[in-house]
Amino acid sequence: MTLRVLVVEDDREIRSMMQSSLAVEGFSVQTAVSVSEAGALLQHDLPDILVLDLGLPDGDGMVLVQAVRKRHNLPILVVSARHQEAQKIQLLDAGADDYLTKPFSVGELLARIRVALRHRGTTLAAAVTLHELDDLRIDLTERLVQSRNQILHLTPTEFKLLACLVRNAGRVVTHRQLLTDVWGAEFTEHTHYLRLYMGQLRAKIEVDPAEPRHLLTETGIGYRLATV
Ligand code: CA
Repeated sequence: MTLRVLVVEDDREIRSMMQSSLAVEGFSVQTAVSVSEAGALLQHDLPDILVLDLGLPDGDGMVLVQAVRKRHNLPILVVSARHQEAQKIQLLDAGADDYLTKPFSVGELLARIRVALRHRGTTLAAAVTLHELDDLRIDLTERLVQSRNQILHLTPTEFKLLACLVRNAGRVVTHRQLLTDVWGAEFTEHTHYLRLYMGQLRAKIEVDPAEPRHLLTETGIGYRLATV
């Protein structure tokens, strides 16, 4: 099956770089250069994934994230030169699956697209319940966490936090999402809970908790469970 991607980007050089590298990977690529053009295409025909720049000549790509997410489940990957954490959090909370900060490599773009597709695909089919990378093995169904061939003993809260990251493996999960999932919607400001429990998880899981291999910090935004 050929996967269709819609690339929304007004910068001609970046657009053609994405178009050609995605075509080489076997994607069928459509492009748009503005919010209005993308909006018209999306009304007509839905792609399998949306790759979206934010700074567009006739508006902010953010409006497309909100409009698409209201009605559709397709993966949305934002590519942007914006670096502010607040904006990235806003995007992720609005329903973007992930973001790439410009400049990025083709390899990075493809890896993030694969993760976003897998995530959306698996939430439609079966939820992710098994995570394996290097010496770490997490089986959510069996509630079993193993590292370096040892079974690790986690508290219920540590396990809940880890499970949330496993279900989103490879994607950044915002502080708000994690706090809501693990403690509840009234705890979204309690980021110190996360620092505490993430410290405990790292102490149990990581070979060197100061240089985490698995539980990665996205400074000011959230955490990501490494998949590569
Ligand atoms: Ca732009």
